[in-house]
Amino acid sequence: MKRRDFLLKAGLTGAIPWVGQKLSSAPLVMPKNVKSVLIIGAGFSGLAAGLTLSRAGIKVTILEARNRIGGRVFSFSPKQSGDQIIELGAEWVGYSHTRVIELCKEFNLPLDNNQFETDLLLEGKHTRQNQWSFSPEMEKFWSQRKDIWDKMSDGEKEKLDRTDWWRYLSNLGFSDRDLYLRDLLDSTDFGESIRHTSAYAAMAGYAEGSEKNEMDLKIRGGNGQLASKMANEIGLENILLNHKVAAISQKGSSEVIVNCADGKSFTADKLICTAPTYSLMKMNWSPALPDDMTDALNELQYSRIGKFPIVFSNRFWGREDFDMVTDTPAHYFYHGTKNQPGKKGVLMCYAVGEKADTLGSVSASQRKEIILDALKPAFGKVSKYLVEDLKYYWGQDQFSKGAYAIYGKGQWFGLMPVLRQHFINVHFAGEHLADWQGFMEGAIDSGEEAAKAVMIS
Ligand SMILES: Cc1cc2nc3c(=O)[nH]c(=O)nc-3n(C[C@H](O)[C@H](O)[C@H](O)COP(=O)(O)OP(=O)(O)OC[C@H]3O[C@@H](n4cnc5c(N)ncnc54)[C@H](O)[C@@H]3O)c2cc1C
Repeated sequence: MKRRDFLLKAGLTGAIPWVGQKLSSAPLVMPKNVKSVLIIGAGFSGLAAGLTLSRAGIKVTILEARNRIGGRVFSFSPKQSGDQIIELGAEWVGYSHTRVIELCKEFNLPLDNNQFETDLLLEGKHTRQNQWSFSPEMEKFWSQRKDIWDKMSDGEKEKLDRTDWWRYLSNLGFSDRDLYLRDLLDSTDFGESIRHTSAYAAMAGYAEGSEKNEMDLKIRGGNGQLASKMANEIGLENILLNHKVAAISQKGSSEVIVNCADGKSFTADKLICTAPTYSLMKMNWSPALPDDMTDALNELQYSRIGKFPIVFSNRFWGREDFDMVTDTPAHYFYHGTKNQPGKKGVLMCYAVGEKADTLGSVSASQRKEIILDALKPAFGKVSKYLVEDLKYYWGQDQFSKGAYAIYGKGQWFGLMPVLRQHFINVHFAGEHLADWQGFMEGAIDSGEEAAKAVMIS
C-alpha cells in the first residue's frame, strides 16, 4: 500500500478530500465562490498551485521573497563552465515522479538519464563501482525490501514510525559495517544521519521507490526550466518577486490580507502558503495559528545539505556516470554535468548534517583542501585542474534554513496531519506536507492539492 493510500485509510490526510481524483491539466472541480487567491512562494509548490488555479480561471497573485522563481530548485551556470548548468538545489527526477514527468511532457521538456554507479572510499581505500558490496544479509534484505513492506500490516507500518531507521536495521542484526555504509548512503537522501530519520519514512521511500531510489533523470537545460514554463503560463505579471510576506490577517470566512515587508498590502478570498516552516513561523499571523500547529511547526526540523561544486578543466573521473560515497568530511561526489558536452566538467561535492555545517563554515581554502584531499585516493593530486569552486549551504539559506523537512521518530503520523490542516481561509502546501516529501514531486502534488481544496472551499 502506498504511503498516500495508507494515510487515507488511516484518516491522516488532514483536510484534503479531493485526494484520489485524477490530476490533469483540466480543472476537475468547479470553483464555487472563490474569485481570487494569493500564493506565498514561487517554488514548485506555489507554481503548481498557481497553474491549477489559473487554468480554472481564478485570479492568482504569487508573492515571492527572492529575486528569482524556483525556490529550492536552483539551476545555475558557474562563470567558468561555459554553457553548462548545475543544480544547486533539487537534482534528480525519479521514475516514480509521475506529475513532474507529465508536466515535462506537456511543456516539451526532455528528461535525460541521470543515474550513477557508485564508487566507495573507505579508510583511504578507493573501490570502484560493482567491486564493493554490503554483507550478503544486507544485500538480501535490500533486494526483498518491497516484499517485506507489502507484507507488513498497517499497525506494523505505523509502529515503524516510532523508531529510527538506524535502530530498525540494528535490531534486525546487521553488522556495524552495514549500518555505517547504510548511514553514509541513506543520509544523502535524508540530509541527516539515519539515526534521526523515521524508519517509516525510510522504509516506505525505499520500498516504493525506483531501483535507483528516484535518482534517475534530470530536465535537460536544468530543472529550473519547469519553473519557467509554469511561470510563463501563469503570467509573469502575476508573480511578484522581491515581495517578502511579513504578516497575514484573516477576516470572516472569505478574506485574507497579506502585508509585505516593504509595506505593500494584498487582499484576496483565499491564501495558499507554500513557505518552508522557518519562514512561515516568522510571519505575523492574526488571528494566531492554532496551538497544535505552532507546536508541530516548532518540532519539525529541516536537514542540513551543502552543495560545493567544483569546475574542473578536465573530467579526470572518466566515466559520465561517476559518483562516489566517502567516509571523509566531503561525504559524497557526483558528476554534476553528466550528458553536457565540453572538456570541462563539474564534480559536485554534496555533504549532509555536521559535515555540511563544517564545509559551509570553514574558509574557502580550507574547504578546497578538504575536498581535494578526499579525491586524492581515487585520482591523486587534481588541484591543477581546478578552475572555479562554489558553495551553496542550505542550512543557512535565508528562507528555509535547511534543504527539506526531515521527519524523525513519530513525526510522520504525529506532525504531518496537523501541519496539513487549513486555517480559516489559509491552505498550506510545500514539500514538507507531501507524500513524496523532500522531492519536487511532493511540492507539485501538495500545491495542486491545495489549489483543489481552495476551489471547493
Ligand atoms: C540540496 C537539495 C537537494 C535536493 N535534491 C532533490 C532531488 O534530487 N530531487 C527532488 O525531487 N527534490 C530534491 N530536493 C527537494 C526539492 O528541491 C524540494 O522538495 C522542492 O523544490 C520544494 O518546493 P516548495 O515549493 O515546497 O518549496 P520552495 O522551493 O522552498 O518554495 C517556497 C518559496 O517560498 C518563498 N518564501 C519563503 N518565505 C517567504 C515569504 N516570507 N514571503 C514570500 N515568499 C517566501 C521562498 O523563497 C521559496 O521560493 C532537494 C532540495 C535541496 C535543497
